[in-house]
Amino acid sequence: MPDLARSVPEGGAGSRVDLHTHSTFSDGELTPEQLLEEALWHGIGALALTDHDCVDGLDAAREAGARRSIEIVAGVELSCEFNGMEAHLLGLFLEPDETLRKELKRMQDNRESRMERMLQKLRELNIRIDRDELPSEERQSLGRPHLARLLLQKGYVRTISEAFERYIGDRGPAYIPKDRWTVRQGLDLIHNSRGISFLAHPGASGLVPFLDAFAALGVMGVEVHYPKHPPALEQKLLAEAARLGLLVSGGSDFHSGSSGPALGTPFIPREVLERIRAHKERVWQVS
Ligand code: AMP
Ligand code: ZN
Ligand code: FE
Ligand code: FE
Repeated sequence: MPDLARSVPEGGAGSRVDLHTHSTFSDGELTPEQLLEEALWHGIGALALTDHDCVDGLDAAREAGARRSIEIVAGVELSCEFNGMEAHLLGLFLEPDETLRKELKRMQDNRESRMERMLQKLRELNIRIDRDELPSEERQSLGRPHLARLLLQKGYVRTISEAFERYIGDRGPAYIPKDRWTVRQGLDLIHNSRGISFLAHPGASGLVPFLDAFAALGVMGVEVHYPKHPPALEQKLLAEAARLGLLVSGGSDFHSGSSGPALGTPFIPREVLERIRAHKERVWQVS
């Protein structure tokens, strides 16, 4: 049966952009191809694929984007450490160099061995999940959301939140930290690949008080428009970005068609993307 609610794209092609999305190359539920299908339905004209610590979905995204006349902005979301906290850095308009690819591979390998250790911890709690029940692409970032979904599917918990609260959250008994780059390293990786760097979702990471420090470290912009940022915070972040001379970005952080924010939310006008593109052309001298 056709889904009538979805039979007409919202808005019209190209009216909105989404600069923060995930696919099956990290902990998103849709393949790049499926993600672009979703983007078409939501009238998105440009989409950045920003998988955690992985750029290997970009080729498939570009192919799928070209077929639907949706621009793909090459991106990545790097997990970094800042004063003992997790800081996510987004790189947009990335041209991944060899160093970045090697570092991403190292981090993916670390996530793999960390996952084995978390499975071992779960076994000690009489929870049996085998490695082969998790995704096993050669190039992919395995994360705790994969594990949370399996705990749910296998009936060990009733919600994803419960999986984090009882087992794999930062204070849970089966939690093992992953390796992280320093913010300085993360920024170098992005800039050496001629990318434009952003501090992702500061309001969801507890990092709003540290914007000056990130600007001093050389971050080029801040993700202002974000589903978990209330309007008052967006206004504050816009003012902070203007004060510090930072670019503005935004996106849905889409992971799944069945839970969490929809693609293209909150509404982000094309203007946001065009300012970032102009900066890319200026600082990295793209002809
Ligand atoms: P990882 O990078 O493997 O440590 O996984 C971190 C990811 O797990 C985050 O980016 C969130 O998407 C997700 N996550 C962390 N804490 C929670 C939570 N309490 N409930 C749901 N998802 C969470
Ligand atoms: Zn994620
Ligand atoms: Fe993030
Ligand atoms: Fe994200």
